[in-house]
Amino acid sequence: MTTYLTRRLYYDDPYLRRFNARVLQWEEVEDHPAVVLDQTAFYPGGGGQPPDLGTINGVPVLDVRLREHGGGILHLLQGQVKSRDIVGTVDWDRRFDHMQQHTGQHILSAAFWALFRAETVGFHMGSEATTIDLNQKELSEEKVDRAERLANHIVTEDRKVTAHFLKPGEEDLLPLRKQPTVTGPIRVVEIEGFDVTPCGGTHVGRTGEVGIIKVVGVERRSDAMRVSFLCGWRAFDEYSHLQGIVSSVARYLTTGPDDIPGMVQKLKTDLQVTQKILRRTKGQWMKELGIRLTENAKPLGPWHLVVYRLEEGIDPGVLSRVLAEHDDVVAVLGWATGDKAQMILTRGSNVKLDMSDVLRRVAKKFVGRGGGGPERAQGGFSDASILDDAMEYARDLISRDSMP
Ligand SMILES: [Zn+2]
Repeated sequence: MTTYLTRRLYYDDPYLRRFNARVLQWEEVEDHPAVVLDQTAFYPGGGGQPPDLGTINGVPVLDVRLREHGGGILHLLQGQVKSRDIVGTVDWDRRFDHMQQHTGQHILSAAFWALFRAETVGFHMGSEATTIDLNQKELSEEKVDRAERLANHIVTEDRKVTAHFLKPGEEDLLPLRKQPTVTGPIRVVEIEGFDVTPCGGTHVGRTGEVGIIKVVGVERRSDAMRVSFLCGWRAFDEYSHLQGIVSSVARYLTTGPDDIPGMVQKLKTDLQVTQKILRRTKGQWMKELGIRLTENAKPLGPWHLVVYRLEEGIDPGVLSRVLAEHDDVVAVLGWATGDKAQMILTRGSNVKLDMSDVLRRVAKKFVGRGGGGPERAQGGFSDASILDDAMEYARDLISRDSMP
């Protein structure tokens, strides 16, 4: 048994949430006061499990870290702790959640190993889901389902979970699921009759405390398959959350939850048909509007000038293309979107004017930006109130340029 600078109370009793200790060192780390204690129930981050939070003499603990050498555990604090004798209090909801996720991870990893010899090569406990990376090229839904079921059977069997340090030579006697990665004394966590694996984290005392283990995602990660899952209260909360979503969708669709997929499929098909009809109708509308506008256009030398401020629902792109199909037409189209103004200048093939040149001069006068080519140019202005003036200015420039 190795002696660390800080005695790790969470090894002996992961359920300890309040403890007395003495400060060995006061330090400052990253502009925060920090203390090293002679013993602690605070788990320092490591092995995929995040650090504990809580308080020391009422001062919030911001982070807990294990020193590489000497085994001291550093507690970063929000404020100073002056007395040598302290009382530490672990944020229990957070810690118990970590114990549920971590023990659930052992069970799920062991299930994948027992059923398919799929080895866990990575583990990360996130603030939402926990993930394991399996050394598999692919993972079928059926395999995931079988592993998930076995894992939940282990939970309902309420097996004992224990941890101890290996005695010399003991590793050869135990069926370790994976080889230890640490040097020095090796701590193993055992799920009675199911799994033995090296681990330095905190775990629940019986598998029943893990609660449900639910896989929520599988994705490929280079040469591994990443499985995301939730355990215990996280799974419960997610179930409530999803149930809320399903209920509100069912209410929207005035149907039962089971009919949602069929209903959504039908709505999607209906929408596609409607959109097709709408596109066709809109095209027809734009064509007719184009004809009406050109018929009423003002003669301008050999050409016809259309100046039109768009109404709601009109697609500027479609309308400008329709107008440009009329060889002798030159058009100024303007519209406002929110507090901004937009303008398209376009022309038919007979009109010998450079639209981008006209737009450039309009943009210069009304502080706008834009570009395009001789046949079509588009610009934007940050102030919608100038739209009418800018369109009139464009019309004047085109009239002037059209003079023989
Ligand atoms: Zn563990």
